[in-house]
Amino acid sequence: MNLTERIEKFPFLIEFSELAKKRDEKVYIVGGFVRDLFLGRDKKEFDFLIVGDGVEFANAISKKLKQKKIVIYKTFGTAQFQYDEYFLEFVGAREESYDRASRNPKIERGSFLQDIKRRDFTINTLAISLNENDFGELIDTYKGIEDIEKKILRTPIDPMITFDDDPLRIMRAFRFASNLEFDIVDEIKDAAIQMKERLAIVAQERITDEFFKILSSERPSIGLRLMFDTGVMSVIFPEISIMGGVEQRKDYHHKDVFQHTCIVVDNISKVTDDVWLRFAALVHDIAKPQTKRFVEGIGWTFHGHEEMGARMMKSVFEKLKLPLHKIEYIKKLIRLHLRPIALVDDDVTDSAIRRLVVQAGEELDDLITLCRADITSKNPNKVTKYLENYEKVMNRVQEVREKDKLREFQSPVKGDEIMRVLDIKPSKLVGIVKTRIEEAILEGDIPNEYDAAYDFLMKIKNEYKN
Ligand code: ATP
Ligand code: MG
Repeated sequence: MNLTERIEKFPFLIEFSELAKKRDEKVYIVGGFVRDLFLGRDKKEFDFLIVGDGVEFANAISKKLKQKKIVIYKTFGTAQFQYDEYFLEFVGAREESYDRASRNPKIERGSFLQDIKRRDFTINTLAISLNENDFGELIDTYKGIEDIEKKILRTPIDPMITFDDDPLRIMRAFRFASNLEFDIVDEIKDAAIQMKERLAIVAQERITDEFFKILSSERPSIGLRLMFDTGVMSVIFPEISIMGGVEQRKDYHHKDVFQHTCIVVDNISKVTDDVWLRFAALVHDIAKPQTKRFVEGIGWTFHGHEEMGARMMKSVFEKLKLPLHKIEYIKKLIRLHLRPIALVDDDVTDSAIRRLVVQAGEELDDLITLCRADITSKNPNKVTKYLENYEKVMNRVQEVREKDKLREFQSPVKGDEIMRVLDIKPSKLVGIVKTRIEEAILEGDIPNEYDAAYDFLMKIKNEYKN
Protein backbone atom coordinates (compact mmCIF):
# COMPACT_ATOMS: atom_id res chain seq x y z
CA MET A 1 0.00 0.00 0.00
CA ASN A 2 1.27 3.41 -0.90
CA LEU A 3 0.70 5.38 2.27
CA THR A 4 1.25 8.82 0.81
CA GLU A 5 -1.46 8.12 -1.71
CA ARG A 6 -3.79 6.90 1.01
CA ILE A 7 -3.41 9.99 3.14
CA GLU A 8 -3.59 12.34 0.18
CA LYS A 9 -7.30 11.50 0.28
CA PHE A 10 -7.29 13.94 3.19
CA PRO A 11 -5.93 17.19 1.73
CA PHE A 12 -6.29 19.05 5.02
CA LEU A 13 -3.33 17.06 6.34
CA ILE A 14 -0.96 19.21 4.26
CA GLU A 15 -1.94 22.14 6.45
CA PHE A 16 -0.71 20.18 9.46
CA SER A 17 2.63 19.76 7.81
CA GLU A 18 2.98 23.46 7.07
CA LEU A 19 1.91 24.51 10.53
CA ALA A 20 4.32 22.11 12.22
CA LYS A 21 7.16 23.51 10.15
CA LYS A 22 6.25 27.06 11.02
CA ARG A 23 5.97 26.26 14.72
CA ASP A 24 9.11 24.16 14.67
CA GLU A 25 7.20 21.17 16.05
CA LYS A 26 6.54 17.62 14.83
CA VAL A 27 3.14 16.11 14.13
CA TYR A 28 2.06 12.51 13.54
CA ILE A 29 -1.14 10.55 13.02
CA VAL A 30 -1.18 7.79 15.64
CA GLY A 31 -3.38 5.08 17.12
CA GLY A 32 -6.62 3.70 15.79
CA PHE A 33 -6.62 5.50 12.45
CA VAL A 34 -3.27 4.02 11.42
CA ARG A 35 -4.12 0.58 12.78
CA ASP A 36 -7.44 0.52 10.95
CA LEU A 37 -5.82 1.71 7.74
CA PHE A 38 -3.76 -1.48 7.76
CA LEU A 39 -6.79 -3.54 8.68
CA GLY A 40 -8.53 -2.11 5.62
CA ARG A 41 -11.07 -0.21 7.67
CA ASP A 42 -11.90 3.41 7.11
CA LYS A 43 -12.06 5.57 10.15
CA LYS A 44 -13.32 9.09 10.58
CA GLU A 45 -11.47 9.72 13.82
CA PHE A 46 -7.90 10.94 13.80
CA ASP A 47 -5.57 11.00 16.77
CA PHE A 48 -2.68 13.45 16.34
CA LEU A 49 0.49 13.38 18.37
CA ILE A 50 2.43 16.63 18.58
CA VAL A 51 5.99 16.79 19.77
CA GLY A 52 5.56 20.22 21.24
CA ASP A 53 2.50 21.90 22.66
CA GLY A 54 -0.53 19.77 21.68
CA VAL A 55 -3.17 22.23 22.82
CA GLU A 56 -1.56 25.27 21.20
CA PHE A 57 -1.07 23.32 18.00
CA ALA A 58 -4.73 22.27 18.04
CA ASN A 59 -5.76 25.87 18.55
CA ALA A 60 -3.65 27.10 15.67
CA ILE A 61 -4.76 24.40 13.26
CA SER A 62 -8.43 24.94 14.14
CA LYS A 63 -8.00 28.58 13.10
CA LYS A 64 -6.26 27.56 9.90
CA LEU A 65 -9.12 25.17 9.10
CA LYS A 66 -11.65 27.82 10.13
CA GLN A 67 -13.20 25.74 12.89
CA LYS A 68 -14.44 27.70 15.86
CA LYS A 69 -15.70 25.01 18.18
CA ILE A 70 -12.69 23.51 19.80
CA VAL A 71 -12.83 21.64 23.10
CA ILE A 72 -9.78 21.76 25.33
CA TYR A 73 -9.09 19.54 28.33
CA LYS A 74 -6.42 21.48 30.18
CA THR A 75 -5.73 18.89 32.88
CA PHE A 76 -5.14 16.17 30.31
CA GLY A 77 -3.38 18.42 27.84
CA THR A 78 -5.68 17.32 25.03
CA ALA A 79 -7.98 19.07 22.57
CA GLN A 80 -10.49 18.04 19.95
CA PHE A 81 -12.73 19.42 17.27
CA GLN A 82 -14.90 18.36 14.39
CA TYR A 83 -13.81 19.10 10.85
CA ASP A 84 -16.28 18.18 8.10
CA GLU A 85 -17.16 14.56 8.75
CA TYR A 86 -13.93 14.00 10.68
CA PHE A 87 -13.28 14.02 14.36
CA LEU A 88 -9.80 15.29 15.24
CA GLU A 89 -8.07 14.71 18.57
CA PHE A 90 -4.77 16.23 19.69
CA VAL A 91 -2.29 15.36 22.36
CA GLY A 92 1.21 16.55 23.10
CA ALA A 93 3.92 13.89 23.34
CA ARG A 94 4.43 13.03 26.97
CA GLU A 95 6.34 10.93 29.33
CA GLU A 96 3.91 9.51 31.77
CA SER A 97 4.70 8.33 35.21
CA TYR A 98 2.02 7.08 37.53
CA ASP A 99 1.49 7.64 41.13
CA ARG A 100 0.25 4.23 42.35
CA ALA A 101 -1.98 5.75 45.00
CA SER A 102 -3.89 8.06 42.72
CA ARG A 103 -5.40 7.25 39.38
CA ASN A 104 -4.01 10.30 37.70
CA PRO A 105 -0.86 10.19 35.72
CA LYS A 106 1.70 12.90 36.24
CA ILE A 107 2.13 14.23 32.78
CA GLU A 108 5.40 15.63 31.59
CA ARG A 109 6.45 16.60 28.14
CA GLY A 110 8.35 13.86 26.39
CA SER A 111 9.81 12.79 23.09
CA PHE A 112 8.05 10.90 20.31
CA LEU A 113 9.58 7.61 21.44
CA GLN A 114 8.74 8.14 25.10
CA ASP A 115 5.15 8.73 24.13
CA ILE A 116 4.85 5.77 21.80
CA LYS A 117 6.36 3.46 24.38
CA ARG A 118 3.62 4.13 26.94
CA ARG A 119 0.82 3.23 24.58
CA ASP A 120 -1.18 0.10 25.21
CA PHE A 121 -0.55 -2.37 22.39
CA THR A 122 1.96 -2.62 19.57
CA ILE A 123 -0.81 -2.39 16.97
CA ASN A 124 -1.67 0.99 18.51
CA THR A 125 1.90 2.31 18.45
CA LEU A 126 1.97 2.82 14.68
CA ALA A 127 2.45 6.40 13.54
CA ILE A 128 2.44 8.22 10.20
CA SER A 129 4.61 11.28 9.95
CA LEU A 130 3.06 14.45 8.62
CA ASN A 131 6.36 16.31 8.72
CA GLU A 132 7.89 17.81 5.62
CA ASN A 133 11.06 15.71 5.55
CA ASP A 134 9.27 12.34 5.74
CA PHE A 135 5.61 13.09 5.00
CA GLY A 136 3.54 9.93 4.76
CA GLU A 137 6.19 7.67 6.20
CA LEU A 138 5.18 4.91 8.58
CA ILE A 139 6.99 4.69 11.89
CA ASP A 140 6.70 1.21 13.31
CA THR A 141 8.81 1.16 16.46
CA TYR A 142 7.43 -2.01 18.03
CA LYS A 143 6.71 -4.24 15.02
CA GLY A 144 3.04 -3.37 15.04
CA ILE A 145 2.59 -4.30 11.38
CA GLU A 146 3.99 -7.75 11.98
CA ASP A 147 1.53 -8.20 14.85
CA ILE A 148 -1.38 -7.05 12.68
CA GLU A 149 -0.36 -9.65 10.12
CA LYS A 150 -0.02 -12.33 12.77
CA LYS A 151 -3.24 -11.15 14.37
CA ILE A 152 -1.79 -10.89 17.84
CA LEU A 153 -1.98 -8.38 20.66
CA ARG A 154 1.26 -7.58 22.41
CA THR A 155 2.31 -4.73 24.67
CA PRO A 156 5.32 -2.60 23.69
CA ILE A 157 6.85 -3.08 27.13
CA ASP A 158 6.43 -5.64 29.92
CA PRO A 159 2.63 -6.01 30.28
CA MET A 160 2.99 -6.04 34.07
CA ILE A 161 4.15 -2.43 33.82
CA THR A 162 1.62 -1.52 31.12
CA PHE A 163 -1.28 -2.86 33.20
CA ASP A 164 0.04 -1.53 36.48
CA ASP A 165 0.18 2.00 35.04
CA ASP A 166 -3.41 1.83 33.82
CA PRO A 167 -5.35 -1.36 34.67
CA LEU A 168 -8.09 -0.43 32.20
CA ARG A 169 -5.69 -1.69 29.54
CA ILE A 170 -6.59 -5.23 30.68
CA MET A 171 -10.13 -4.57 29.49
CA ARG A 172 -8.84 -2.89 26.35
CA ALA A 173 -6.78 -6.00 25.57
CA PHE A 174 -9.89 -8.18 25.72
CA ARG A 175 -11.89 -5.62 23.78
CA PHE A 176 -9.40 -5.50 20.89
CA ALA A 177 -9.02 -9.29 20.97
CA SER A 178 -12.79 -9.64 20.75
CA ASN A 179 -13.44 -6.89 18.18
CA LEU A 180 -10.57 -7.78 15.87
CA GLU A 181 -10.50 -11.53 16.62
CA PHE A 182 -6.82 -11.32 17.53
CA ASP A 183 -5.01 -13.65 19.93
CA ILE A 184 -3.45 -12.18 23.01
CA VAL A 185 0.02 -13.37 23.92
CA ASP A 186 0.44 -15.45 27.09
CA GLU A 187 2.36 -12.67 28.84
CA ILE A 188 -0.72 -10.45 28.59
CA LYS A 189 -2.95 -13.22 29.92
CA ASP A 190 -0.58 -13.88 32.83
CA ALA A 191 -0.29 -10.19 33.64
CA ALA A 192 -4.09 -9.83 33.51
CA ILE A 193 -4.43 -12.71 35.98
CA GLN A 194 -1.96 -11.10 38.36
CA MET A 195 -3.19 -7.53 37.98
CA LYS A 196 -6.94 -8.05 37.82
CA GLU A 197 -7.65 -6.76 41.34
CA ARG A 198 -6.22 -3.38 40.32
CA LEU A 199 -9.23 -2.83 38.09
CA ALA A 200 -10.85 -1.67 41.33
CA ILE A 201 -9.06 1.70 41.02
CA VAL A 202 -10.46 2.33 37.54
CA ALA A 203 -13.64 4.38 37.09
CA GLN A 204 -16.59 2.04 36.57
CA GLU A 205 -17.75 4.01 33.51
CA ARG A 206 -14.53 3.23 31.67
CA ILE A 207 -14.79 -0.48 32.52
CA THR A 208 -18.44 -0.66 31.51
CA ASP A 209 -17.65 1.15 28.27
CA GLU A 210 -15.09 -1.51 27.32
CA PHE A 211 -17.44 -4.28 28.46
CA PHE A 212 -20.11 -3.06 26.09
CA LYS A 213 -17.60 -2.70 23.28
CA ILE A 214 -16.87 -6.39 23.86
CA LEU A 215 -20.59 -7.12 23.62
CA SER A 216 -20.70 -5.31 20.29
CA SER A 217 -18.14 -7.69 18.74
CA GLU A 218 -19.23 -10.08 16.05
CA ARG A 219 -18.51 -12.90 18.52
CA PRO A 220 -18.65 -11.46 22.03
CA SER A 221 -17.85 -14.88 23.52
CA ILE A 222 -14.19 -14.27 22.68
CA GLY A 223 -13.99 -11.40 25.14
CA LEU A 224 -16.37 -13.00 27.64
CA ARG A 225 -14.25 -16.15 27.81
CA LEU A 226 -11.02 -14.14 28.17
CA MET A 227 -12.53 -12.27 31.10
CA PHE A 228 -13.78 -15.50 32.61
CA ASP A 229 -10.58 -17.51 32.13
CA THR A 230 -8.35 -14.79 33.62
CA GLY A 231 -10.64 -14.17 36.59
CA VAL A 232 -11.29 -10.60 35.46
CA MET A 233 -14.99 -11.46 35.26
CA SER A 234 -15.01 -12.36 38.94
CA VAL A 235 -13.72 -8.88 39.71
CA ILE A 236 -15.97 -6.83 37.45
CA PHE A 237 -19.08 -9.00 37.14
CA PRO A 238 -19.03 -11.83 39.70
CA GLU A 239 -22.65 -12.81 39.02
CA ILE A 240 -21.62 -13.93 35.54
CA SER A 241 -18.46 -15.64 36.65
CA ILE A 242 -20.22 -17.90 39.19
CA MET A 243 -22.34 -19.30 36.36
CA GLY A 244 -19.29 -21.30 35.30
CA GLY A 245 -18.81 -24.95 36.23
CA VAL A 246 -20.81 -28.13 36.24
CA GLU A 247 -22.02 -30.21 39.13
CA GLN A 248 -22.74 -33.89 38.89
CA ARG A 249 -24.77 -36.04 41.21
CA LYS A 250 -25.33 -39.68 40.44
CA ASP A 251 -26.18 -39.76 36.75
CA TYR A 252 -27.32 -36.19 36.61
CA HIS A 253 -25.27 -33.24 35.55
CA HIS A 254 -26.47 -29.88 34.35
CA LYS A 255 -24.92 -27.91 31.55
CA ASP A 256 -22.32 -25.27 32.31
CA VAL A 257 -24.43 -22.12 32.47
CA PHE A 258 -21.57 -19.77 31.59
CA GLN A 259 -20.62 -21.75 28.48
CA HIS A 260 -24.27 -22.03 27.48
CA THR A 261 -24.62 -18.26 27.91
CA CYS A 262 -21.62 -17.59 25.69
CA ILE A 263 -23.28 -19.54 22.89
CA VAL A 264 -26.58 -17.72 23.41
CA VAL A 265 -24.82 -14.33 23.22
CA ASP A 266 -23.00 -15.33 20.03
CA ASN A 267 -26.24 -16.68 18.55
CA ILE A 268 -28.14 -13.49 19.22
CA SER A 269 -25.27 -11.36 17.92
CA LYS A 270 -25.73 -12.99 14.51
CA VAL A 271 -29.20 -11.50 14.25
CA THR A 272 -29.03 -8.21 16.14
CA ASP A 273 -26.60 -5.34 16.69
CA ASP A 274 -28.70 -4.08 19.58
CA VAL A 275 -26.27 -4.24 22.43
CA TRP A 276 -29.11 -4.24 25.02
CA LEU A 277 -30.70 -7.31 23.53
CA ARG A 278 -27.24 -8.88 23.62
CA PHE A 279 -26.95 -7.86 27.26
CA ALA A 280 -30.32 -9.49 27.97
CA ALA A 281 -28.93 -12.70 26.47
CA LEU A 282 -25.91 -12.42 28.75
CA VAL A 283 -27.99 -12.12 31.92
CA HIS A 284 -31.07 -14.19 31.13
CA ASP A 285 -29.92 -17.15 33.27
CA ILE A 286 -28.03 -15.08 35.82
CA ALA A 287 -29.94 -16.50 38.82
CA LYS A 288 -29.39 -20.14 37.93
CA PRO A 289 -26.54 -20.59 40.42
CA GLN A 290 -28.70 -19.21 43.25
CA THR A 291 -31.77 -21.29 42.40
CA LYS A 292 -30.04 -24.57 41.65
CA ARG A 293 -31.49 -27.57 43.51
CA PHE A 294 -31.04 -31.29 43.16
CA VAL A 295 -34.32 -33.15 43.25
CA GLU A 296 -34.22 -36.89 43.80
CA GLY A 297 -35.47 -38.76 40.73
CA ILE A 298 -35.73 -35.61 38.61
CA GLY A 299 -32.27 -34.07 38.59
CA TRP A 300 -31.22 -30.43 38.64
CA THR A 301 -33.85 -27.73 38.72
CA PHE A 302 -33.62 -23.94 38.63
CA HIS A 303 -37.08 -23.00 39.81
CA GLY A 304 -37.82 -19.31 39.83
CA HIS A 305 -34.56 -18.25 38.21
CA GLU A 306 -36.44 -15.92 35.85
CA GLU A 307 -38.02 -13.95 38.68
CA MET A 308 -34.91 -13.85 40.81
CA GLY A 309 -32.79 -12.92 37.79
CA ALA A 310 -35.06 -9.98 37.06
CA ARG A 311 -34.78 -8.84 40.68
CA MET A 312 -30.99 -9.04 40.57
CA MET A 313 -30.88 -6.36 37.88
CA LYS A 314 -31.24 -3.51 40.35
CA SER A 315 -27.89 -4.19 41.98
CA VAL A 316 -26.26 -5.15 38.68
CA PHE A 317 -27.37 -1.87 37.09
CA GLU A 318 -26.16 0.09 40.09
CA LYS A 319 -22.79 -1.62 40.24
CA LEU A 320 -22.10 -1.37 36.49
CA LYS A 321 -23.58 2.15 36.37
CA LEU A 322 -25.90 1.21 33.52
CA PRO A 323 -28.58 3.66 32.34
CA LEU A 324 -31.67 3.08 34.47
CA HIS A 325 -34.09 3.65 31.61
CA LYS A 326 -33.00 0.24 30.27
CA ILE A 327 -33.69 -1.74 33.42
CA GLU A 328 -37.37 -2.51 32.79
CA TYR A 329 -36.59 -3.79 29.32
CA ILE A 330 -33.92 -6.17 30.61
CA LYS A 331 -36.06 -7.32 33.54
CA LYS A 332 -38.97 -8.05 31.25
CA LEU A 333 -36.91 -10.21 28.92
CA ILE A 334 -35.40 -12.16 31.83
CA ARG A 335 -38.75 -12.61 33.52
CA LEU A 336 -40.50 -13.85 30.37
CA HIS A 337 -37.77 -15.89 28.73
CA LEU A 338 -39.34 -19.24 29.54
CA ARG A 339 -42.88 -18.27 28.75
CA PRO A 340 -43.05 -18.77 24.99
CA ILE A 341 -41.81 -22.36 25.22
CA ALA A 342 -44.54 -23.12 27.76
CA LEU A 343 -47.10 -22.16 25.12
CA VAL A 344 -46.30 -24.61 22.36
CA ASP A 345 -48.86 -27.28 23.22
CA ASP A 346 -51.93 -27.42 21.02
CA ASP A 347 -54.28 -27.20 23.97
CA VAL A 348 -52.90 -23.84 25.08
CA THR A 349 -55.80 -21.41 25.23
CA ASP A 350 -56.12 -18.10 23.45
CA SER A 351 -56.12 -16.37 26.81
CA ALA A 352 -52.68 -17.77 27.68
CA ILE A 353 -51.36 -16.43 24.38
CA ARG A 354 -53.05 -13.09 25.03
CA ARG A 355 -51.36 -12.79 28.38
CA LEU A 356 -47.97 -13.18 26.77
CA VAL A 357 -48.83 -10.61 24.10
CA VAL A 358 -49.98 -8.12 26.72
CA GLN A 359 -47.13 -8.72 29.17
CA ALA A 360 -44.38 -8.67 26.55
CA GLY A 361 -45.94 -5.70 24.75
CA GLU A 362 -43.47 -3.95 22.45
CA GLU A 363 -40.79 -6.41 23.48
CA LEU A 364 -42.42 -9.54 22.11
CA ASP A 365 -40.25 -9.72 19.00
CA ASP A 366 -37.08 -9.25 21.06
CA LEU A 367 -38.29 -11.91 23.47
CA ILE A 368 -38.73 -14.43 20.68
CA THR A 369 -35.32 -13.48 19.28
CA LEU A 370 -33.87 -14.26 22.70
CA CYS A 371 -35.75 -17.56 22.92
CA ARG A 372 -34.49 -18.65 19.52
CA ALA A 373 -30.91 -17.74 20.46
CA ASP A 374 -31.36 -19.74 23.68
CA ILE A 375 -31.51 -22.98 21.69
CA THR A 376 -28.00 -24.38 22.04
CA SER A 377 -28.58 -28.08 21.49
CA LYS A 378 -25.95 -29.80 19.39
CA ASN A 379 -28.56 -32.09 17.91
CA PRO A 380 -29.75 -30.53 14.64
CA ASN A 381 -33.07 -32.39 14.76
CA LYS A 382 -33.82 -30.93 18.14
CA VAL A 383 -32.82 -27.44 16.99
CA THR A 384 -35.20 -27.69 14.03
CA LYS A 385 -37.99 -28.91 16.27
CA TYR A 386 -37.48 -26.15 18.84
CA LEU A 387 -37.36 -23.47 16.17
CA GLU A 388 -40.60 -24.84 14.72
CA ASN A 389 -42.14 -24.60 18.16
CA TYR A 390 -41.46 -20.87 18.34
CA GLU A 391 -42.78 -20.53 14.83
CA LYS A 392 -45.96 -22.17 16.08
CA VAL A 393 -46.23 -19.86 19.08
CA MET A 394 -45.71 -16.81 16.88
CA ASN A 395 -48.38 -18.02 14.49
CA ARG A 396 -50.78 -18.33 17.39
CA VAL A 397 -49.74 -14.83 18.51
CA GLN A 398 -50.46 -13.52 15.04
CA GLU A 399 -53.88 -15.16 15.05
CA VAL A 400 -54.81 -13.77 18.43
CA ARG A 401 -53.50 -10.32 17.55
CA GLU A 402 -55.58 -10.21 14.43
CA LYS A 403 -58.58 -11.42 16.34
CA ASP A 404 -58.20 -8.88 19.10
CA LYS A 405 -56.02 -6.09 17.77
CA LEU A 406 -54.30 -6.40 21.10
CA ARG A 407 -51.08 -4.54 20.51
CA GLU A 408 -51.91 -1.51 22.59
CA PHE A 409 -54.15 -3.25 24.98
CA GLN A 410 -56.17 -1.24 27.49
CA SER A 411 -59.73 -1.42 28.60
CA PRO A 412 -61.80 0.17 25.81
CA VAL A 413 -63.94 1.71 28.56
CA LYS A 414 -61.83 4.41 30.18
CA GLY A 415 -61.61 5.58 33.78
CA ASP A 416 -63.80 8.68 33.43
CA GLU A 417 -66.60 6.61 32.04
CA ILE A 418 -66.32 4.09 34.88
CA MET A 419 -66.53 6.98 37.36
CA ARG A 420 -69.62 8.35 35.65
CA VAL A 421 -71.45 5.00 35.48
CA LEU A 422 -70.65 4.12 39.10
CA ASP A 423 -71.02 7.72 40.20
CA ILE A 424 -67.74 7.74 42.08
CA LYS A 425 -64.74 10.06 42.46
CA PRO A 426 -61.21 9.16 41.36
CA SER A 427 -60.17 6.32 43.64
CA LYS A 428 -58.65 2.85 43.81
CA LEU A 429 -62.01 1.41 42.87
CA VAL A 430 -61.74 2.85 39.34
CA GLY A 431 -58.57 0.82 38.79
CA ILE A 432 -60.12 -2.31 40.23
CA VAL A 433 -63.10 -2.13 37.89
CA LYS A 434 -60.88 -1.34 34.93
CA THR A 435 -58.69 -4.37 35.67
CA ARG A 436 -61.81 -6.52 35.92
CA ILE A 437 -62.85 -5.44 32.41
CA GLU A 438 -59.36 -6.10 31.09
CA GLU A 439 -59.35 -9.53 32.72
CA ALA A 440 -62.66 -10.38 31.07
CA ILE A 441 -61.16 -9.51 27.70
CA LEU A 442 -57.95 -11.43 28.37
CA GLU A 443 -59.93 -14.46 29.45
CA GLY A 444 -61.88 -14.26 26.22
CA ASP A 445 -65.20 -13.80 28.05
CA ILE A 446 -65.92 -10.68 26.02
CA PRO A 447 -64.31 -9.33 22.83
CA ASN A 448 -61.89 -6.41 22.93
CA GLU A 449 -64.47 -3.86 21.79
CA TYR A 450 -66.08 -0.80 23.30
CA ASP A 451 -69.72 -1.95 23.15
CA ALA A 452 -69.00 -5.32 24.71
CA ALA A 453 -66.91 -3.73 27.45
CA TYR A 454 -69.60 -1.16 28.17
CA ASP A 455 -72.31 -3.85 28.41
CA PHE A 456 -70.07 -5.79 30.74
CA LEU A 457 -69.61 -2.74 32.94
CA MET A 458 -73.36 -2.24 33.12
CA LYS A 459 -73.75 -5.87 34.13
CA ILE A 460 -71.26 -5.73 37.00
CA LYS A 461 -71.86 -2.17 38.18
CA ASN A 462 -74.19 -3.10 41.00
CA GLU A 463 -71.52 -5.18 42.65
CA TYR A 464 -69.60 -1.98 43.25
CA LYS A 465 -72.38 0.28 44.42
CA ASN A 466 -72.98 0.66 48.09
P1 ATP B 1 -10.99 3.03 18.80
O1 ATP B 1 -11.10 4.49 18.44
O2 ATP B 1 -11.36 2.07 17.76
O3 ATP B 1 -11.60 2.72 20.14
P2 ATP B 1 -8.25 3.73 19.23
O4 ATP B 1 -7.03 2.85 19.20
O5 ATP B 1 -8.28 4.90 18.36
O6 ATP B 1 -9.44 2.73 19.00
P3 ATP B 1 -8.58 5.57 21.40
O7 ATP B 1 -9.21 5.34 22.72
O8 ATP B 1 -9.14 6.57 20.45
O9 ATP B 1 -8.47 4.13 20.74
O10 ATP B 1 -7.06 5.95 21.70
C1 ATP B 1 -6.16 6.38 20.69
C2 ATP B 1 -4.79 5.82 20.95
O11 ATP B 1 -4.33 6.25 22.24
C3 ATP B 1 -4.75 4.30 21.01
O12 ATP B 1 -4.56 3.73 19.75
C4 ATP B 1 -3.57 4.06 21.91
O13 ATP B 1 -2.36 4.21 21.20
C5 ATP B 1 -3.67 5.18 22.90
N1 ATP B 1 -4.44 4.84 24.10
C6 ATP B 1 -5.75 5.05 24.34
N2 ATP B 1 -6.12 4.67 25.55
C7 ATP B 1 -5.00 4.18 26.12
C8 ATP B 1 -4.70 3.63 27.40
N3 ATP B 1 -5.63 3.48 28.34
N4 ATP B 1 -3.42 3.28 27.62
C9 ATP B 1 -2.49 3.43 26.68
N5 ATP B 1 -2.69 3.92 25.48
C10 ATP B 1 -3.94 4.31 25.20
MG1 MG C 1 -9.37 6.80 18.33
